[in-house]
Amino acid sequence: MKALIIGGGIAGPVAAMALQKVGIDSTLYEAHPIGAHGVGTTMGLSTNGLAALQILDAHRAIADAGFPCPRGVMWLGDGRRLGEDVPTPLPDGTTAIQLLRADLYAALHEHAATRGVRTEYGRRLVEVDHHGDQVVARFADGGEAVGDVLIGADGMRSATRRFVAPGAPRPRYCGIFGTNGFAHGLNLDTEPGTFHMVFGRRAFFGYVQREDGCVWWFVNVPATREPAPAELAAIPSEQWRHRLHELLAVDASPAARIIQATPPGYDWFVSHQMKAPRTWHRGRAVLIGDAAHVTSPSSGQGAAMAIEDAIELARCLRDLPLAQALPAYQRLREGRLRKVHAGARQVNRSKSATGLARVLRDAMFPVLMKRFGSPEALAWLYDHRIDFDSTVTS
Ligand SMILES: Cc1cc2nc3c(=O)[nH]c(=O)nc-3n(C[C@H](O)[C@H](O)[C@H](O)COP(=O)(O)OP(=O)(O)OC[C@H]3O[C@@H](n4cnc5c(N)ncnc54)[C@H](O)[C@@H]3O)c2cc1C
Repeated sequence: MKALIIGGGIAGPVAAMALQKVGIDSTLYEAHPIGAHGVGTTMGLSTNGLAALQILDAHRAIADAGFPCPRGVMWLGDGRRLGEDVPTPLPDGTTAIQLLRADLYAALHEHAATRGVRTEYGRRLVEVDHHGDQVVARFADGGEAVGDVLIGADGMRSATRRFVAPGAPRPRYCGIFGTNGFAHGLNLDTEPGTFHMVFGRRAFFGYVQREDGCVWWFVNVPATREPAPAELAAIPSEQWRHRLHELLAVDASPAARIIQATPPGYDWFVSHQMKAPRTWHRGRAVLIGDAAHVTSPSSGQGAAMAIEDAIELARCLRDLPLAQALPAYQRLREGRLRKVHAGARQVNRSKSATGLARVLRDAMFPVLMKRFGSPEALAWLYDHRIDFDSTVTS
């Protein structure tokens, strides 16, 4: 079997390595002329994502591209501690990490390249077609490629999705936008690697200090109307810094100090989530990662879900004929994805609450955290392990 993988982000190289493990040859086609684009944003990779990478013996290489964050602590803006989460590490001690998105892309590509995965850059998919019992990918450069299965790992604006599920739901705005940064010279009174999440009075703030003292942070600002990226970029950095300080100084957290210690200059992101279409496959084409379902950044699970998708798909293609493998893959994934989406919607509602809704949130939060935010309540997410050696049945 020959697989055409469209998109060399996160799901793409993982799919190529997973297919190689089950004896399926593949080529990655990436639209951009070089890899590791999208420099700047920080992200988390949780233990379930790293456990999935362990199946490919890739988890250490990826963990080394970031720094360990074994513990998360949640706070309210008034300084009340809501609870903490310490997901079970992998048997070799690997814990959740924080890293730059660009470093995750680069580490995955490097790892895939050392295993002989072929990547063709500058190949933008424009059309998918079927020809007898083969699938054809047509590219913007006029070229084409023919294979037995086409895997759409081409992200939120997937061209493959237009073919597989033309009526698919569109990405929806989650009520928050945000930015991130790095502060030096603060020496906060916190354990390095503990990720603090502050549900503040006017905005949400997340921060973690590295061993070397550098503080990685991000902020989520509520806004009922979706701002256009150009609108956010048009506001001068100094003005934004002042505004962020105003939003965060009302809280009993070091957020305002962290903003002051960060040189102004912000890249803004607007949070979206997109439900999966009813069917994730059509003919010989199938969707994985953000192409199938966009999980908002608030879940901290977009990359982990893309990795899990890629590995489960390879398992299905190993054990079943194609016509059964693609529906089996969707069945294995969709329930878990729905749960992750529901959790992210809940977090987004909490982050975007203002006025009375915010007061109610703060009153209810301690109770809700006990029920939904405890380590036991989150075990289904972080302790999920794919049993790669077990056979998938239709
Ligand atoms: C601000 C922000 C913060 C985030 N934080 C986290 C976090 O903390 N934890 C987490 O797990 N997730 C996080 N995410 C989500 C995570 O980045 C995505 O879920 C993840 O990148 C999805 O991987 P993917 O491979 O499916 O798609 P992508 O990473 O988007 O890769 C898609 C690839 O396909 C290529 N492509 C697109 N169109 C075509 C085409 N027509 N032909 C060929 N190639 C094409 C693109 O160039 C790209 O390389 C965050 C996202 C954002 C925006």
